Amino acid sequence: MTENSKKHVDSCRFCWMCRHICPIGNATGLERNTSRARALGLSLVNRDVFTLSEVIDNVYECACCGACTKECVTGWDPVMFTKEARLDAAMEGVLPSYIDKLVDNCLEIGNAYGAKEVDASLKEAASAHAAKADTLLFLGVDALYKVPEAAVNAIKVLEKAGVSFTVLDAEPASGQQLEYLISAANETKEQMEACAKALNAFDKVVVFDPQDAKVFKREYKEWGVELTADVETFTAYVAGLVKSGVLKAQNCGKAVVYQDPFQLSRDLAETEEAREIINAYAVCNEMLCHGKDTMWAGNLLMKEWMPDVMLRVASDRITNAKGVGADTIVTASVSEYASLKAVEQSDVKIVSLEELILGE
Ligand code: SF4
Ligand code: SF4
Repeated sequence: MTENSKKHVDSCRFCWMCRHICPIGNATGLERNTSRARALGLSLVNRDVFTLSEVIDNVYECACCGACTKECVTGWDPVMFTKEARLDAAMEGVLPSYIDKLVDNCLEIGNAYGAKEVDASLKEAASAHAAKADTLLFLGVDALYKVPEAAVNAIKVLEKAGVSFTVLDAEPASGQQLEYLISAANETKEQMEACAKALNAFDKVVVFDPQDAKVFKREYKEWGVELTADVETFTAYVAGLVKSGVLKAQNCGKAVVYQDPFQLSRDLAETEEAREIINAYAVCNEMLCHGKDTMWAGNLLMKEWMPDVMLRVASDRITNAKGVGADTIVTASVSEYASLKAVEQSDVKIVSLEELILGE
């Protein structure tokens, strides 16, 4: 571990000040799911008391959502040392088998789920946009393989606005899943280089999944992966279409709350664009922990090895919405949409931004 990460680990290990903000810790109620416990384990690895393989499961119980980092008044960064520990584990060959399998899928098939087939309805919707245009709609692996209806709706929104755009027949992986699983490994960077090559054939890339947008705008830059195309989040792009009147909104007056994806609000400092869209079609109220303070609502990747915890994380967020009397949560992340929808309940409706725009 780098000296810098060791410093962060040693500063966190006897602290506990951000425990209330961790979505995983809140869902499980376990001290092991706090940044300080993870730091304590890693500090013992750094002191040769434990081996990395003895604490590695715990290293993969973190969403890397950055709520603790944001909350830390002393400026320590648990996401940084967690990602470094993952990279070390990959290099030392001590990844847990359930992570190894997902990494292999990313490398061999292009997505952690090992999915090869795209849903027929999405194939059909995408085939209408196979011709080369200046703008590319980048859908991402979660929409492509896990929530095809979200991808179809994203296509419909741009069609409704009369935008000319391309959807790639074989979309390359952005590298976001590898970045989460094994961080800055050479394999991650190689996948990103290949993706950048495909994206640079376009003037503009509209990125549907906030997780892809985050790596395009942050890690690509940080790791020297050159993107010449102008990359914009789907939310920012659609907010522009609404503002310019290209998308004509009719406000139904319904009160909703918005689930900020941390990749937009914390990583990319984008909080207003989705609210502008929502306020054009409905009325955006706020729930506990919103904007940069957002509480993550779960995702599809971690569901692969922590399905019960993902349900509890999403359920907690539904409780937050109920706490302010909301009966509808609007999402901007494919993964959070699926995660919230998976909770069996009927009090709070889960609606994506696309569904709000399309009136579905
Ligand atoms: S991130 Fe900050 S608040 Fe959280 S455990 Fe570390 S030092 Fe404490
Ligand atoms: S990054 Fe998120 S999930 Fe991980 S310890 Fe911090 S708050 Fe918890």
